[in-house]
Amino acid sequence: MLENLDPITQAVRIQTERSQQNEHSTPLYLTSSFIFEEAETMRGAFADENDANIYSRFSNPNVDEFIAKMVMLEKAEDGFATATGMAAIFGTWMALLSQGDHMVCSSSVFGSTFTIVNKFLPKYGISCTLVASEDKEAWEAAIQPNTKMVYLETPTNPQLEVLDLEWFGQFSKKHNLILAVDNCFATPLLQRPIEFGADLVIHSATKWIDGQGRVLGGVVVGRADLIKDIYLFCRNTGPALSPFNAWVLSKSLETLDVRMERHCKTALAVAESLQSNPNVSWVKYPFLKGHPQYDIAIKQMSAGGGVLCFEVKGGVEAGRKFLDSLQLFSVTANLGDSRSIASHPASTTHSKLTEEERLAVGITPGLIRISTGLEKFDDIIADINQALELTK
Ligand SMILES: *Cc1c(COP(=O)(O)O)cnc(C)c1O
Repeated sequence: MLENLDPITQAVRIQTERSQQNEHSTPLYLTSSFIFEEAETMRGAFADENDANIYSRFSNPNVDEFIAKMVMLEKAEDGFATATGMAAIFGTWMALLSQGDHMVCSSSVFGSTFTIVNKFLPKYGISCTLVASEDKEAWEAAIQPNTKMVYLETPTNPQLEVLDLEWFGQFSKKHNLILAVDNCFATPLLQRPIEFGADLVIHSATKWIDGQGRVLGGVVVGRADLIKDIYLFCRNTGPALSPFNAWVLSKSLETLDVRMERHCKTALAVAESLQSNPNVSWVKYPFLKGHPQYDIAIKQMSAGGGVLCFEVKGGVEAGRKFLDSLQLFSVTANLGDSRSIASHPASTTHSKLTEEERLAVGITPGLIRISTGLEKFDDIIADINQALELTK
């Protein structure tokens, strides 16, 4: 019956089979392994003849419930969940790429993703060409005979560039490449890359999916043949998601739709308000008409997401002063929380780069990233406005 219902309803209702206690909400399956009544069933489980749970590094009812919901939301065939978003990204690459393979990757990707590409993949003989997201000719020119995969995220962190998923879907198909998309910022509620031709979709569930800053988690969903290889790699190398975290994340998916609706509404209203603030030189948000890829954003996303960024006038000092002046906002290295968060990349996450390197990846001196929370809009904007007053 569930299969025919809307994915949002399924995210509320999909549930691991009830136990003999007839619980309403899913219980926690905190167990490392599962018992077998008969040697024959255990033999069959190891021979992949039945899908009985064996050991929680391979599968677990709480983890499977979370995966099943993500598969429905992303319109995927299958999935695997991991301890963090980075484990999902690294596991995908290690499972599907071999020595001598090449990948083309957007140059604006998450910091740790960038580090794996630059520092670790080369150790295993996997090469990568980084391409600026906008430059279509450079994407074409980057393809080599040994290219296997195209990797990107959209919207990007923290510059909020929007990459054209329809174009990348066709590009990957034309060159017979696996297209993997980090869909962390949009969530499956705003954007489903598989509809545009992506083969794999990856999430840091730590962000909007948990949505309350409690647990780490990651998931990769997509084509069943690719997930099978990722599963075999991960089942043996051990980046499994803990059942407790999976239980938290599965519960969170019940409210993702209502939360995202509110986050997006608040983010758009904050972005619109900041456009006319005299202490701000520019504001960037995918659903603002002035965004450089506004047309692409409205084509592929149903709302602009919960993150916006802006440039406070006065450079690095003004950026730091802004953070110090906030009263309600949290200053912390996360996003996608029920609590509003502000960060200043130039003096924190990107402080080890030179000014020139920072500008190359779009980190201007006064860039502030805001992750809008679930507090009342009036309180959020009042805090931003009073802090901006003090940066003058
Ligand atoms: C946070 C983040 C990741 C990494 O996820 P973790 O759960 O922290 O490992 C990957 N991609 C994007 C876009 C992120 O924001």
